[in-house]
Amino acid sequence: MKIGFIGLGNMGAPMAANLVKAGHEVTGFDLVAPCPEGVSKADSAADAAAGQEVVITMLPNGDILRSVAAEIIPAMDKGALFLDCSTVDVESARAVAHDAEAAGLLAADAPVSGGIGGAQAGTLTFMAGGSDAAFEKARPLFDIMGQKAVHCGPSGNGQAAKICNNMILGATMLVTCEAFALADKLGLDRQKMFDVVSTSSGYSWTMNAYTPAPGVGATSPADNDYKPGFAAELMLKDLRLSQQAAEAADAETPIGARATELYRQFVESEGGKGMDFSAVLPWLAGKSRG
Ligand code: NAD
Repeated sequence: MKIGFIGLGNMGAPMAANLVKAGHEVTGFDLVAPCPEGVSKADSAADAAAGQEVVITMLPNGDILRSVAAEIIPAMDKGALFLDCSTVDVESARAVAHDAEAAGLLAADAPVSGGIGGAQAGTLTFMAGGSDAAFEKARPLFDIMGQKAVHCGPSGNGQAAKICNNMILGATMLVTCEAFALADKLGLDRQKMFDVVSTSSGYSWTMNAYTPAPGVGATSPADNDYKPGFAAELMLKDLRLSQQAAEAADAETPIGARATELYRQFVESEGGKGMDFSAVLPWLAGKSRG
């Protein structure tokens, strides 16, 4: 397939490289980042999009997605697929898909989970929103860049699934870390707490597969000085998107709101920026109630 790829950062570059490895012809554009080996460099986003069967975007946020979309939609061939894999707000995803479809394109939002490691290994999970035709056209590319793709419904539903998942993840990480901090103050050994909780009803992915305590449970960023992994500021971004969506939909999300506030504090004023999102454990463990 002839593919345009716009946004070749931490995630986009390895995803584009995997498409090249699988034999696709990829033309890339990024304002700053270089093209990975095998990707031809275009001079603009519109140039990267013109004449392609599929154009993939992997961009930082909804405003940038909207501005790139305004530039590339008129340049794309009718019937081509606009596949946005960025994590953005549901409204931007729906607006961009609407404009693309009005211009005779197929459109899907397909944010990912799995991080930079998953992008490199081609083991991402895609959660997709859009028509059946758009999903079917994207499927062979999902199979190359990922290990699983779920069609979640119409446009925007991929983003909806992503922020619901990450709201659970953020809140679960916080409560797992505060439980370790409480255990410390109660004189309960962290390893003993892990042994109990990881096989009891408090178990979770954060406890069992991404244990936030160094030297305990699964090997995780905690064992590497809390270097990300999944950076706290990216968790904050996703939590903010969840609260923006909750407000727009009039959904009551008190735990999501509190998790957003705690990650905001941690990232903006408590040294969390650049740390893995599990580094809330040393932060909370070092605090007292007052
Ligand atoms: P990144 O900042 O490394 O990459 C984004 C790239 O977009 C940058 O290279 C930037 O130069 C480029 N860009 C910005 N504006 C542009 C424009 N107008 N035209 C062309 N290029 C432009 O970010 P990333 O980590 O690759 O993340 C990309 C998306 O994936 C984000 O939405 C993020 O939330 C999501 N995501 C990231 C991870 C992760 O672990 N990094 C995991 C899941 C999802």
